[in-house]
Amino acid sequence: MIQLKEIKDSFLHLLFPHICAGCGSDILNVESVLCMRCIHEMPETNFELYPGNPVEKIFWGRLPLLGATAQFYFTKESLVQHLMHQFKYKRNKELGLQLGRIMGTRIKRSGRFEVDALIPLPLFRAKERRRGYNQASILCKGMAETMNIPILDKMIIRPQHTDSQTKKGRIERWKNMEGKFILSNPESISNKHLLLVDDVVTTGATLEACGNELLKAAGVQLSVATLCVSSRV
Ligand SMILES: [Zn+2]
Repeated sequence: MIQLKEIKDSFLHLLFPHICAGCGSDILNVESVLCMRCIHEMPETNFELYPGNPVEKIFWGRLPLLGATAQFYFTKESLVQHLMHQFKYKRNKELGLQLGRIMGTRIKRSGRFEVDALIPLPLFRAKERRRGYNQASILCKGMAETMNIPILDKMIIRPQHTDSQTKKGRIERWKNMEGKFILSNPESISNKHLLLVDDVVTTGATLEACGNELLKAAGVQLSVATLCVSSRV
């Protein structure tokens, strides 16, 4: 006899299909938004295991870090690009949480990142409002679950354009603000080893600007983790 629960589950599946965010397959665990095949196919860098890895090299001479890593290689037309799109522009927060959990598990297991807290790289407020969330914060939530450490958001902010800048050209203004961060409460992070988190690292300029602001607090040590690294590195 068909159980009531099975009918309910099938009905729910019709209304809210539970499918893999990578390939659309419906063969996946209830608590996962990625099927095993997609998880297996994602190109892991394993950088978390190696001092002097290519992501650490990006920051050499620019930002003093204890360690840096990126979880996956990002290439065009790839599964990772598709997932990033789902996560950033299609509001798939569940996917971001799961990717964050994967990052957290790998980073913790490496034993190379003895960090006290996670700091999501802030977005401009207007951009965060438009998108509905900061993707770095979602990754941090997933990471915090598997690393058992707190997230310190709101410690560092990214201010909007100010009136004094309205006379400048738009591109110049944007350049001027891009690298600007303000540490609002330095005491709250002093003497901590912080892991600064973002979705992707390419040139490292934004992470560098944010990281240098964090290092203004007394006794702060810094590491960096991103979900992916552009293949240009
Ligand atoms: Zn899949």
